[in-house]
Amino acid sequence: MSGWLESLEGLAASRSKAGLTRRLRPRPAGDPVVDLAGNDYLGLATHPAVIEASIKSLPTYGLGATGSRLVRGSAVAHAELESDLAGWIGAESALVFSSGYLANLAAVRGLTAVCDLIVSDAYNHASLIDGCKISGTRTVIAPHNSPADVARLLDAHPGRALVVTESVFSVDGDLAPLAELHEVTSARGALLVVDDAHALGLLGPSGAGGVAAAGLAGRSDVIVTATLSKSLGGAGGVVAGPAPFIRHLIDTGRTFIYDTALPPAVAAGVHEALRTARAADDRRALLAARGALTVSLLGAAGFAVSPPAAGVLSVLAPGPEAAVAWASDCYDRGVAVGCFRPPSTPDGSSRLRLTLNAGVTDADFARALDVIVECAP
Ligand code: PMP
Repeated sequence: MSGWLESLEGLAASRSKAGLTRRLRPRPAGDPVVDLAGNDYLGLATHPAVIEASIKSLPTYGLGATGSRLVRGSAVAHAELESDLAGWIGAESALVFSSGYLANLAAVRGLTAVCDLIVSDAYNHASLIDGCKISGTRTVIAPHNSPADVARLLDAHPGRALVVTESVFSVDGDLAPLAELHEVTSARGALLVVDDAHALGLLGPSGAGGVAAAGLAGRSDVIVTATLSKSLGGAGGVVAGPAPFIRHLIDTGRTFIYDTALPPAVAAGVHEALRTARAADDRRALLAARGALTVSLLGAAGFAVSPPAAGVLSVLAPGPEAAVAWASDCYDRGVAVGCFRPPSTPDGSSRLRLTLNAGVTDADFARALDVIVECAP
């Protein structure tokens, strides 16, 4: 029998044959590449006020949180951020985690204390899928964006169920039918968890998110999760909902209790980003115009592009190798685009993922679209 390293090399060779080798491209400071791959939708990761707020708090708070939230890691910066996140999202209470991934693990697992079935959308993010897995609760996968199927699955279950979805889906950029889903869940006493990662800051009044845009903010049977790393340009995650559920997470959420807290200086920067994002209707309008321009330009050039609900859109590629080559050629010409292929997407749906960024200039954006068309396989 060969050793374990030889076994890993064998697995890597099969992935390579299937075009599934992944590549890291470390980005230098001051990278001149036009960014249509990151999730800095509102361009706040480098916003001067955001950077200044974070820098100002560094000497007093230090580099790291120095402990978990329940030991030494909770700072006033976390509490202030949580209070404003709850107000913005329209929830009674909010709890900050050190990442959106960990927030999702805690939210889904936490709700299974009172639910004995999970109905999870087929296209949900890995963090939601892992939340279902670690909860140890029976999980059924619902066909993507289908309230009728969710209703059917709930009707077949006598107990209380939890329905889990994203608002704007992270690869195709399409919007979940949240109002219809909520009609289905509320009529059956089920709870609804919505991962608003790609809609917070982009949709709803003052960017309050996809849940707010669907008129569901503040409902006692809706829990919102989000990352603070996309439109807010920083890092961290949040769960927002009724106060008793947040209390439950503080007492029992393993990814809250046993994880070193988000660095307070990051919390301070994210808090400033939140204030900026709330007032950024001009940036949201710019993104909407760029989404429409992308669909019309790439559509006219013969590509299958769906209209973006917020800041994500994807362009189908003929296969995984073609998608990798397309993204790589764009990068060599100064344009970073995302490249998604199995296992991140279903077989036969390799694609470029484009993310809009209000920090990119109009001229750079127009050039980037030309480059994408010119590099097409
Ligand atoms: N949910 C969705 C839909 C995401 O796209 C992401 C980030 N890729 C996450 C959760 C995880 O957030 P974080 O990167 O803060 O862990």
